[in-house]
Amino acid sequence: MSKKEELQKLKEEVESCSRCALHLSRTQAVFGMGNPESRILFVGEAPGYYEDLQGLPFVGQAGKLLDKLLGEIGFSRKEIYIANVLKCRPPKNRDPLPQEIEICKPYLLKQIEIIQPSLVCTLGRFALHLLYGKKIPISKFHGKVLPGDIFTIYPLFHPAAALHQPALYTPLREDFLNLAKILKELKSTPPVEKKPTQITLF
Ligand code: SF4
Repeated sequence: MSKKEELQKLKEEVESCSRCALHLSRTQAVFGMGNPESRILFVGEAPGYYEDLQGLPFVGQAGKLLDKLLGEIGFSRKEIYIANVLKCRPPKNRDPLPQEIEICKPYLLKQIEIIQPSLVCTLGRFALHLLYGKKIPISKFHGKVLPGDIFTIYPLFHPAAALHQPALYTPLREDFLNLAKILKELKSTPPVEKKPTQITLF
């Protein structure tokens, strides 16, 4: 099965998921979108109002900012893959609950297993804490390259945070400009074959 077919199969599973209570309030689940062959995966927090309505990640104001920042470094969504920690919108856009993250986590891990990214750009603290496995402060670690056995993590502030707290916009933009250099290096290194068993699944 191709990566595209594997992702489609998982998407169908997510769309009918009722593992946590968020399925009761969602309009629809938001699986993720992008290039399945990409070596770069962006992981946000959870769908918001517009994402829940449209079934696509990062389509509101935060998504527009993400597109702008990607465009500034010569990238577009077609070249990356974007997913979230939670696939369903928490009511009133509240923070994800620890148990919701734990229950939904296998879907993100399976997406990672299929896509096999070399670089994972976490957007916000929830994605960082989940994928790094430790609650390190994003205020200290944003823009730092965190190498791992399976993929490298590059923590970024969430674009929505930069919209609500203008002081975060400049560091977010600077981190994106540095990302351009990291991506250039990535292009010059061949992808490393990953062992799927290294990732914990359902
Ligand atoms: S948030 Fe995740 S675990 Fe909860 S219902 Fe949606 S897809 Fe299932």
